[in-house]
Amino acid sequence: MKTLLVEDEKRIADFVCAGLREQGFSVDHCDNGNEGYERAAAGSYDVIVLDIMLPGRDGLSVLKGLRRAGNATPVILLTARNELDDRIEGLNLGADDYLAKPFFVEELVARIHALVRRISGERQNVLAVGGLRLDRITREVAWQGQTVDLTGREFNLVEYLMRAPGRVFTRTQILEHVWGYDFDPSTNIVDVCIQRIRKKIGVDRDGESPIEAVRGVGYRFRKLKADA
Ligand code: CA
Repeated sequence: MKTLLVEDEKRIADFVCAGLREQGFSVDHCDNGNEGYERAAAGSYDVIVLDIMLPGRDGLSVLKGLRRAGNATPVILLTARNELDDRIEGLNLGADDYLAKPFFVEELVARIHALVRRISGERQNVLAVGGLRLDRITREVAWQGQTVDLTGREFNLVEYLMRAPGRVFTRTQILEHVWGYDFDPSTNIVDVCIQRIRKKIGVDRDGESPIEAVRGVGYRFRKLKADA
């Protein structure tokens, strides 16, 4: 899950970043509204966690700008306890949810999961394609009935590809969604991670891995006729 956190209070930003990363999220953080808007408008985030009181553009202005530009990325606003008017205005401006400070990071994680499920219409917690089964809640993975032990990063990568079987994702897309912006796009980290996953999962009866390399482009999750 690729997340943008726009929050100027360092203490809060640190614990939210740490908490989300612990849950396997990829998190980009910025501490002012101007940069927040730029990043939100340019990036392809799954969710944006947006503080209201920010240096530069405030959170409501960022939200308004995004929605006006046709950006529909789910937004959770972080509000101070007494900012009732801000909350109402935020929801009117197209925020999807809000969380009042102080909050537990577990609650934020639960809200994000609920929100993304709601927004994407993916009410199913289990993805199953061509012999690979992935449970988003328990984060268990099984290939042809056998448990596969994936790291958080590996899980997120497989989940990303499985969302659209047959579609080819470029290394850059994968890097952005699974690692965030902190990595040099020329790195071979994606290929290394894919190799590790393919090794862990193994092959089917025909000797084929469910994850295919598409030469010169990227990777895709194999789409079987039965899944079509
Ligand atoms: Ca603030």
